[in-house]
Amino acid sequence: MEEHGYSGLPVVPYIRVSRVGGRDKTDGYISPKEQQKAIDRYAEYENVELHAPIIEENVSGGSLEGRSGFEQAMTMVDRGTAGGVISLRLNRIARNIRDAIDIADRLDKKNARLISVSEKIDLGTGTGRFQFYVFAALAQLELEQITEQWKVSVGQAVEKGIHISAAVPFGYLKGEDRRLYPDPEAAPSVKEIFKRRAKSPPESWAAISAWLWEQGVKTGRGNEGFSRSALQAIVTNRAYLGEAHYVGKGKRGKEPVFDLVNPKAHKPLVSATVFERAQPNGETAERNGTLTDQTLLRGILTCEFCGHRLVLLGSTDRATGERMANYHCARDHADGKCSQPVAIQARRIDPVVEELFLDRLSAYSKKPRAMRVTNTALLVKAEAKLAEEEAGLASWLAQDFIGIPQKLVEKQKAERLARFSAAEEALKIERDRAQVGAEIEKGDLVERWPELGREERNRILRAAIDRVVITDAGGKRGRGAPPPEKRIKSIAWATGIVG
Ligand SMILES: [Zn+2]
Repeated sequence: MEEHGYSGLPVVPYIRVSRVGGRDKTDGYISPKEQQKAIDRYAEYENVELHAPIIEENVSGGSLEGRSGFEQAMTMVDRGTAGGVISLRLNRIARNIRDAIDIADRLDKKNARLISVSEKIDLGTGTGRFQFYVFAALAQLELEQITEQWKVSVGQAVEKGIHISAAVPFGYLKGEDRRLYPDPEAAPSVKEIFKRRAKSPPESWAAISAWLWEQGVKTGRGNEGFSRSALQAIVTNRAYLGEAHYVGKGKRGKEPVFDLVNPKAHKPLVSATVFERAQPNGETAERNGTLTDQTLLRGILTCEFCGHRLVLLGSTDRATGERMANYHCARDHADGKCSQPVAIQARRIDPVVEELFLDRLSAYSKKPRAMRVTNTALLVKAEAKLAEEEAGLASWLAQDFIGIPQKLVEKQKAERLARFSAAEEALKIERDRAQVGAEIEKGDLVERWPELGREERNRILRAAIDRVVITDAGGKRGRGAPPPEKRIKSIAWATGIVG
């Protein structure tokens, strides 16, 4: 092994057992014992010294996150206590190129190796590394193809009007052809719910729930009594318009990968007009409506009394039954309890802060160019800080930790990682700021503002505003409460964005 310049330290056997109902479906079940035997044989033949194995059960593919066993082995490599990792199969260790590069880089730093017994990959060689990247790329391609096939078959199903979700909307029955048909018993109740909500003003959720209870109407699950949220789910469900709708989520469950609609999949229970009128805020139902979608100042507001950022919470408007987003101090923080946690409605404070920003932006845009300050120094500083933390972390990890209590090592590691993450986050913010600064320099942001999406506006506001300190309402609510602009204790504008 000398020709590769390996460290010569013992290598960690990584044994993976992924089981689906007791058996690995994809490539047959190979017991940990058999895997160990194959690894031992290889090690003996190639004269590789072994550590005790790390055995991990029930790990599915996906990215490296959550691969605690493999990560454990890689950490030993990072710390210089292991000379690499050996496994029966490595083709599923990296599911994409980024993972693969990350693994290879970490091994390189330590002159460590990654050996696959069955695929005959040894990362120390050029061919081995190339194969490893190819496997990773293929694994990713396979994932994408699966997604693509899934999309095609779901698309065909939606086209045929098939109801894909396992839950059948109240008021419908699922036919043998898997399409929806009005349930003669429950459909009239659904129509009535819509009618009562479409009135002006709408009947309260409580009154509708009481009416249903009096009628002895049971929910789809056979429960007596419809909760407010169950009723809201009904009036916002576009299935009652006759639509079959399917949103495919991305791997990380966030961004929709595809959004398929068949507007004439089955018989509607309500007309488009009634549906529109019945919507909680008189608008069309947001298909993926979340609280965040209603807010603009995420990550910007802080509590006057504890200094922590406010978090988003939902509540329901007593008068209209509408879901509302509120910013709240979380009260219990790592550094103690907040003495006076503040809260404010998003729909009251959002427009005020937005207006203040736009005023400031207009004033700034009128300044002669020479008087504007764009602070690239902060970006450079943030970059230097991150490099420093990274180097510190790397050299710290490189020590042997012999004689240092494990607890202390873990504590120091956590602290260093936290500092590293903070530096990463700070750099991200400075990069955003630099970008937003450049966008502002173009000079048409005030005009473009109304066309920007909520996400975009939040990004710009976060870059331009360091924080908005919110004070309490002095114990007053409703009409007597101070107007939202009076709740702003102070605004800290970010340096170099809008002056
Ligand atoms: Zn607080």
